[in-house]
Amino acid sequence: MSVKRALVVLAHQEKTSFSHAMKDATLEALKKKGWEVMVSDLYAMKFNPLVSRDDILGDPKEPDNFKYGAESLQAWKEGRLSPDIVEEQKKLESADLVVFQFPMYWFALPAMMKGWFDRVLTQGFAYSLQTMFDNGHFNKKKAVLSFTTGGTSSMYTPTGVNGDINILLWPVQQGILHFCGFQVLEPQIAYSIAHTPPEAREQILEGWKKRLESIWEEKSISFVPNGDFDLTFPGGFALKKEVQKANSSAKYGLTVGQHLGKALPPDNQVKAGCTKL
Ligand code: FAD
Repeated sequence: MSVKRALVVLAHQEKTSFSHAMKDATLEALKKKGWEVMVSDLYAMKFNPLVSRDDILGDPKEPDNFKYGAESLQAWKEGRLSPDIVEEQKKLESADLVVFQFPMYWFALPAMMKGWFDRVLTQGFAYSLQTMFDNGHFNKKKAVLSFTTGGTSSMYTPTGVNGDINILLWPVQQGILHFCGFQVLEPQIAYSIAHTPPEAREQILEGWKKRLESIWEEKSISFVPNGDFDLTFPGGFALKKEVQKANSSAKYGLTVGQHLGKALPPDNQVKAGCTKL
């Protein structure tokens, strides 16, 4: 078997944090299994998370009507993207597995991590409107969100005060990762980590290392396949009528997003193979 390569993208300011400990655990476990591991420690790198004109070298095509998407696509084609973006794109291109390690901020990614997605996943490099979702550029790669929270697991249930974690995961797992083609693995969630006793934190680190030993064999979580949509403009990029009809009497919707006005399929975004119920 050829050597597998992983990229760990980490967004935490403090080396003493649990997020850093999770990153160290990832390095240890994957290297032990023979993986080559790259790390993008975004705070240590002083990564710039802000999309701007400076991301494009040379003169813009339309300086008086600057459109970031069009300009960055052209710059990618002509090798005129900022070197810090190109460096991250090279790491991502060479990785089989990408681990995103971060603390949850305001029900979402920290701005630093969001900025990495905003600037690195440029049009052309990461996606095109012809190649999205199942056909996405990175459909041979696997990705996993590994994150810590302040809130407890019970807060992130359908009856919890913060609401269903599956709903919070949808924008990142469907809107970013699956959109670019990644096979999305079950997220690794360390709930309420600051209020977890030290021995239990050790167990979480050990459990993560154990999971990493065979992570490449894991099945990804499921999304509605491209073939179930009419992916044309007249078709409105919507579920085909026959798919809607076939699911009209089902108890649950297909996914968190394509819920068809029904109850959300339980654990759709946290467990592999939970779509069709
Ligand atoms: P830390 O707090 O750094 O660490 C937790 C504990 O683990 C500490 O006691 C540390 O000493 C210990 N530790 C470190 N290394 C090890 C090791 N090797 N072995 C054992 N123990 C170790 N939470 C929510 O739930 N929802 C939100 O919307 C939300 N929004 C936020 C917004 C902001 C701006 C901020 C700052 C926080 C928010 N939080 C929210 C809370 C945040 O998610 C948590 O504080 C964070 O996830 C904790 O992870 P950490 O890596 O910072 O852990």
